[in-house]
Amino acid sequence: MKVAFFSTKSYDKEYFTRFNDANLHDLTFFEVSLNEQTASLTAGFDAVCVFVNDKIDEDTIGIINKNGIKVIALRCAGFNNVDLKAAKSRNLSIVRVPAYSPESVAEHATALILTLNRKTHKAYNRVREGNFSIENLTGFNLSGKTVGVIGTGLIGASFCKIMLGFGCNVLAYDIQESADLKAKGVQYKNLDELLTLSDIISLHCPLTPETAHIINTNSISKMKNGVMLINTSRGALIEAQDAIEGLKTGKIGYLGIDVYEQEADLFFQDLSESVILDDVISRLISFPNVLITGHLGFFTKEALEEIATITLNNLADFENGLSLKNEIKS
Ligand code: NAD
Repeated sequence: MKVAFFSTKSYDKEYFTRFNDANLHDLTFFEVSLNEQTASLTAGFDAVCVFVNDKIDEDTIGIINKNGIKVIALRCAGFNNVDLKAAKSRNLSIVRVPAYSPESVAEHATALILTLNRKTHKAYNRVREGNFSIENLTGFNLSGKTVGVIGTGLIGASFCKIMLGFGCNVLAYDIQESADLKAKGVQYKNLDELLTLSDIISLHCPLTPETAHIINTNSISKMKNGVMLINTSRGALIEAQDAIEGLKTGKIGYLGIDVYEQEADLFFQDLSESVILDDVISRLISFPNVLITGHLGFFTKEALEEIATITLNNLADFENGLSLKNEIKS
């Protein structure tokens, strides 16, 4: 199949080329993201392969459909950036990578917690400058703390197990409870109870109309003073302006985010010589107790291998008319 890849970086080319056995598919890598303006590039291709910040809305779908695209292959798990209804109405199939090394994201959430808590990033910089003072680097023991997990699917479940391993009391909120996690000691609560009781809250649910801005002024007001909030899921789960207010009052004591609602204009690019025009992220960056990473929760070699293999298999299954086990049905 002739596949047009969008939003590609060096690692996409490296892994997809390596796992494209016997050059099964004909791969073309575009660096630009897929949106209404770039959709004309799909002329002559059979499939597009897209990532988290490509904008596959009704207009984009109209153009790629006219260009002969038959299948949209997401090389990620989340699919909130695709207009499923529009794709269905034009008979386009959509496949994704529902699970790839969930540990990669769960472990990154843990890294955010440990860094914010034990301030290793600050200690590293101090020592490099010959400053061996430990003043103001006080952390807290994770053992015995209450961790609230919102969304206990593949990533949330992996994260729960890590937190249990640290000796934390793990609470969870999900529309579907896991018997396995309950057996391991996770206690399911309603959302308000979880918000009220947790020292650390970590978000692992998908972005849907129900979860959009699930963290807002109202939910923040129910949290413990000085709560640690972690988001490695999707940026729009948090109303960033409300989080800023929470940080200013001290209600939120620590914020660790790998995702940001307006990340499409920022993330995956080197903007170090540019003026950042987004005042919200600039304000967030300015807090001493906020840690931001640029959507790299998924970024381990194990995950990249699985993403490439599963995506290429999804495309082969489509080409061979096989049933699509990773199809997203609207
Ligand atoms: P999953 O589908 O296995 O689990 C999602 C869980 O959320 C499910 O248990 C589901 O029941 C629950 N859920 C759905 N709606 C809910 C609601 N309204 N309230 C509470 N819980 C709800 O997905 P996953 O593989 O664990 O991934 C979770 C999310 O992580 C993805 O949707 C994606 O947005 C994000 N993600 C981020 C990265 C990264 O690099 N930072 C990488 C992969 C995935």
